[in-house]
Amino acid sequence: MNQTDTIRILQEADIRPSYQRNLILKVLRGTDRHPTAEELLEMVNQASEIAISRATLYNTLQLFVDKGIIVQVDSRLHEAHYEPNVTFHPHFICSECKRIFDIQGDLPIASIPAGFKVHSHTLNINGICRECSSKKV
Ligand SMILES: [Zn+2]
Ligand SMILES: [Zn+2]
Repeated sequence: MNQTDTIRILQEADIRPSYQRNLILKVLRGTDRHPTAEELLEMVNQASEIAISRATLYNTLQLFVDKGIIVQVDSRLHEAHYEPNVTFHPHFICSECKRIFDIQGDLPIASIPAGFKVHSHTLNINGICRECSSKKV
């Protein structure tokens, strides 16, 4: 993921590319960890030459979600997690470490009644990841 890609994504979504916005998007696209805002704040500030405030980060995440270039993962965990992959994919959520993993596969067959309009869909599989289950033995 290079600089031009993130700038292009911002411009196509009608977002003025600033140093902060570009960096936040770049950091988020560079991880598959589905970070919370607080985790992302730490990651962004490690990568940044200038300090990025919590308020800037939260406002930027909200803007990105509103513009549809990132999604807030519907995980039922108490903190919101964010990811840049806006296409549908199932998640596996570990109840021990609370990490969210991307799962390959298709949407389960569901028949939506005629006249119903789908706005979004989400598929969460809850369980314990490999790492956590090996710790339990
Ligand atoms: Zn785990
Ligand atoms: Zn995901």
